[in-house]
Amino acid sequence: MKNNIFKKLASVATISATLFMLAGCNSSLLNEKKVEGAQRPIIIQGPMPIEAECFAGKLEKVKVEKSGKFVFYKGKLNNYPVIVTKTGKGMENAAAATALAIEKYNPIAIINQGTSGGHNPELNVFDIVLGERTTNIGSLKTTNLDEGQGTDPTTWIPMDLMASEGSGSDDSANKVRYYYGDKDLLAAANAVKDTYTKGKVVEGTIGSADFWNSEVDRIKWIHEIYGTDVEEMEGASVAQISDAYDVAFLGIRILSNNKTNGGTYDPGTAAANQAYVYEVVKEYISMMKNK
Ligand code: SAH
Repeated sequence: MKNNIFKKLASVATISATLFMLAGCNSSLLNEKKVEGAQRPIIIQGPMPIEAECFAGKLEKVKVEKSGKFVFYKGKLNNYPVIVTKTGKGMENAAAATALAIEKYNPIAIINQGTSGGHNPELNVFDIVLGERTTNIGSLKTTNLDEGQGTDPTTWIPMDLMASEGSGSDDSANKVRYYYGDKDLLAAANAVKDTYTKGKVVEGTIGSADFWNSEVDRIKWIHEIYGTDVEEMEGASVAQISDAYDVAFLGIRILSNNKTNGGTYDPGTAAANQAYVYEVVKEYISMMKNK
């Protein structure tokens, strides 16, 4: 009994602390009224706290739900249900948070957004890439080398794990799999491009893996083989799970760093991307209402 009261107090303290933190991101006043409604929500995902909490702070009538380590901020934007998810970093967290969100909330669309590292030297820190394509850059087959022959990552072959349900040992799996951004989400993102003033907004290819690449020659190799403009650690797994359930998906990634042109890491990009994605979501909602 006592324990329960302490638990309740602890969770009230956690929620208050969260709301206090959100206030730092210019949040509107939050409350915990239950969000009802038959409309299918839009899910906005961010891996790290700095990539999710600013957006969550812009929602109205927020109710915080947790499942495992995944945090769902259920709220409203222009009277439409929007759920911000703090997924945690990496492919596994992102995939699990996506499957959970789909099973729990039946979303109409999922936007995975956050920071990324540039592969394209023409893109600078604060530029934004709309994921016309998203692909897994960590799914690879090596060539056959015997003991003492070393390892040569530049000869590795992209492996499409979704090519068949059988073994990937046949040649049909020796290719890159791209997931294409939903065209309505892309249209909404393009329609509000001009509201973003801190850099360019371009369509491009997002590559994902549990990997932080800082070897310029390796980055160049990935850029050539996969056509990537940026790398991050979540988008392709979200795209894959969204595709499995036939839910509209788009990755939107801001460059927080770009080793290919000397762009050093700037954590301020995370909030800038959320401010832009907020405009995208408003536009998408108004497009749906006018349909
Ligand atoms: N600066 C932190 C980064 C955390 S991990 C650290 O070194 O501890 C990286 C997170 O930021 C992931 O969620 C990933 O999606 C994103 N990210 C930003 N730039 C990246 C890059 N160059 N390579 C891989 N992930 C990157």
